[in-house]
Amino acid sequence: MRPFELTAPATVDAALATRGTFLAGGTTLVDLMKLNVLTPQHVLDINELPLRGIDTSDGLRVGALERMADVAAHPGVYPAISRALLLSASQQLRNMASIGGNLLQRTRCTYFRDVATPCNKREPGSGCPALAGANRMHAILGTSDHCVATHASDVAVALVALDAEITLRSEDGERVVPLADFYRLPGDTPDVENDLRSGELITEVYVPRKDWAAHSTYVKVRDRQSYEFALCSAAVALDVRDGHIADARVAAGGVATVPWRLPAVEDALRGEPATLASFEEAAAKAADGAKPLSGNAFKGSLLKRTIIRALIELTEGGRG
Ligand SMILES: Cc1cc2nc3c(=O)[nH]c(=O)nc-3n(C[C@H](O)[C@H](O)[C@H](O)COP(=O)(O)OP(=O)(O)OC[C@H]3O[C@@H](n4cnc5c(N)ncnc54)[C@H](O)[C@@H]3O)c2cc1C
Ligand code: SF4
Repeated sequence: MRPFELTAPATVDAALATRGTFLAGGTTLVDLMKLNVLTPQHVLDINELPLRGIDTSDGLRVGALERMADVAAHPGVYPAISRALLLSASQQLRNMASIGGNLLQRTRCTYFRDVATPCNKREPGSGCPALAGANRMHAILGTSDHCVATHASDVAVALVALDAEITLRSEDGERVVPLADFYRLPGDTPDVENDLRSGELITEVYVPRKDWAAHSTYVKVRDRQSYEFALCSAAVALDVRDGHIADARVAAGGVATVPWRLPAVEDALRGEPATLASFEEAAAKAADGAKPLSGNAFKGSLLKRTIIRALIELTEGGRG
């Protein structure tokens, strides 16, 4: 790890006025500093800032510094969000890691984390060894010729499904952005992963109160049952009335370069009876446009089956 300066601003204004890299739980940042993937000169510990609190009086409001474990355990948090959090990392990590930091975690692509290999995301223009290399864990949706890395966050998938917004604050003021619009496809600039501006802080995450939010779930498929990133995941929320689907929200993880909303699947579910036949027909559209790599063609059918399983769990009480 390279030497760096560490300071701990006492106020949000002081944090925004000082140029540096924010440190929350440190479970991504310090990890990547040890690997020399990230080499900040000035680290700003933001843990004393007043960016906490979980408020469920009008939808769900979560301060960016709330720990994953505390959000997951809160009784007012929508099921898809708490399940996504509880299926993430380990209890020790969830006790340290913040919601804001989770949304900004970096990809787990092994080439990105190894400074001895080229990687367009880490070093623009150096190449992408995953295209012809070990790519079983990589994306089939939203990819480009320059990067095929998945977005690693579980809770971001649930939040995108539930129409979440984030509040961003800089010295220029505050702005609110739908989380789905915040993440950027890799295109020819995979090093630019999101819309965060220099010196900007995530201060809050907001999920609107909707009929379907409380009737939601998150299903994660992985190589082992704990402490593992998703091969494929699905966040699903349904508003079912008289056996028919009045409204639906569906997003996928582990298969795409950003948390991947599936509007075609949602459209196919709306107005249909809540039956296995409807679920299968809608899920058949999930991998439209997918570009499998040499090692991950299985993800297309896995994605469809993961969505069907989530829909069954929601409508038949966990038969999955
Ligand atoms: C072994 C292991 C397994 C894991 N498994 C999973 C998993 O299964 N699913 C999953 O979703 N995640 C998983 N993670 C990732 C983990 O959830 C993230 O590392 C964690 O959520 C990051 O939060 P943090 O507070 O520690 O962020 P930090 O490491 O402190 O920061 C991460 C990044 O966000 C920036 N940042 C932090 N807070 C803010 C803010 N408020 N505003 C602006 N910038 C900010 C930092 O500058 C840094 O760039 C795993 C991590 C490890 C190490
Ligand atoms: S997939 Fe993306 S992160 Fe992985 S090596 Fe290629 S450019 Fe780097």
